[in-house]
Amino acid sequence: MNVGQSMTSQAEYDLIIIGSGSVGAAAGYYSKKAGMNVLMIDSHFPPHTDGSHHGQTRIIRHAYGEGENYVPLLLKAQSLWSDLHLQSESPIFEKTGVLNAAPEHSEFIQQAIQSAKQYNLNVDITSGKEAKVRWPEINLPDSYITVYEPNAGILYCENAIKSYIKLANELGCAQLFNCEVTAINRKGQGIEVITQDGTYYSKKVAVCAGTWVKKLLPDIPITPIRRVFAWHQADGRFSQNNKFPAFVIENEQGEGFYGFPAVNDELKLGKHLDWQPIEKKEERLPFGRHPTDGRALLDFLKHYLPGVGGCLYGASCTYDMTADEDFIIDTIDENIYVVSGLSGHGYKFASVLGEIISDFAKGDDCEFDLSPFKLNRFNQSKSS
Ligand SMILES: Cc1cc2nc3c(=O)[nH]c(=O)nc-3n(C[C@H](O)[C@H](O)[C@H](O)COP(=O)(O)OP(=O)(O)OC[C@H]3O[C@@H](n4cnc5c(N)ncnc54)[C@H](O)[C@@H]3O)c2cc1C
Repeated sequence: MNVGQSMTSQAEYDLIIIGSGSVGAAAGYYSKKAGMNVLMIDSHFPPHTDGSHHGQTRIIRHAYGEGENYVPLLLKAQSLWSDLHLQSESPIFEKTGVLNAAPEHSEFIQQAIQSAKQYNLNVDITSGKEAKVRWPEINLPDSYITVYEPNAGILYCENAIKSYIKLANELGCAQLFNCEVTAINRKGQGIEVITQDGTYYSKKVAVCAGTWVKKLLPDIPITPIRRVFAWHQADGRFSQNNKFPAFVIENEQGEGFYGFPAVNDELKLGKHLDWQPIEKKEERLPFGRHPTDGRALLDFLKHYLPGVGGCLYGASCTYDMTADEDFIIDTIDENIYVVSGLSGHGYKFASVLGEIISDFAKGDDCEFDLSPFKLNRFNQSKSS
């Protein structure tokens, strides 16, 4: 961020949202609904394929392998998604059920069990052997532990972004798309936002710029990485009609893979991590251009989903990773809020993060404990 001279200036907006993708679109809607004067900005017209939100669907799980800190946020996020579903012309949420499966010693599966117990979530915990009776298409080792969540499912991520933008627009929210923000400066009591289209002023700003946040806030400790996902041939056994669930499966090496029930005989699948750091957008090669793109999924399919066929097509995208893979939800100063570092598991939270931004802009207390997501945790780990 370029920090400008302190000058008095009349703030025009209550809130400017920089980046109107997953989180920013929700923030625009909830802030406008709360009665504020809001400007949403994006360098593209979301949804689009140049960020982290394309590919039609995202999984939402509640028994959270990444830690129980997330569960209160998740439960609120789920209720907001269900509300949005009722207000939208296209589907937003589908209760497909989600199967989590991993070796017994896996931290991911143990944390999923812990969060289910702590929050009394509706889950079936069984062994790989028992799960195979229910889903013979999934070849889990007998000793695996599985946590099945019947109430979890999938979000239609691009539909949701479209809906939030449309609903915000109908409430009279100002929207400036295909326009990049190039700098943010403190100006008097408020903030000056410089864009390709001109300069705008606001009392508060929320930065929800996804992977490329460091162009505006260079000190945010995230690493942009490239990831790929692909659609494979799969017959009716893998479809929702056959009650095939969305899944997150960790292999014996601790690598996470996720997938969705097949639609029109195409099953979408991805590997969660495999850091391929990139410096610039242009380094995000299309699917198939990196030597590991197909291989990692093929090994997984061979072992765990042997009935799934060849790759039909794929796509690449980016994640904004933090070192501990936990989110950054914090203020930079009293007027600038940043939501970043969603580390490849943030979509399911976009609704509640949008509402949290609205509370920040209104000056309301946040109902959640956000201390695990503060920026100062990175300074602490450096000095200890
Ligand atoms: C393949 C894949 C699968 C995933 N699966 C899951 C899943 O199953 N479940 C889950 O919960 N999460 C999942 N995720 C992660 C999730 O999608 C992301 O964490 C989430 O979409 C990030 O939201 P965001 O708002 O931070 O970023 P984005 O949605 O990318 O939005 C950022 C926006 O900021 C705009 N922008 C950036 N810089 C500027 C600027 N200078 N000026 C103006 N605008 C700017 C961009 O154009 C973009 O629209 C997955 C991600 C990928 C890529």
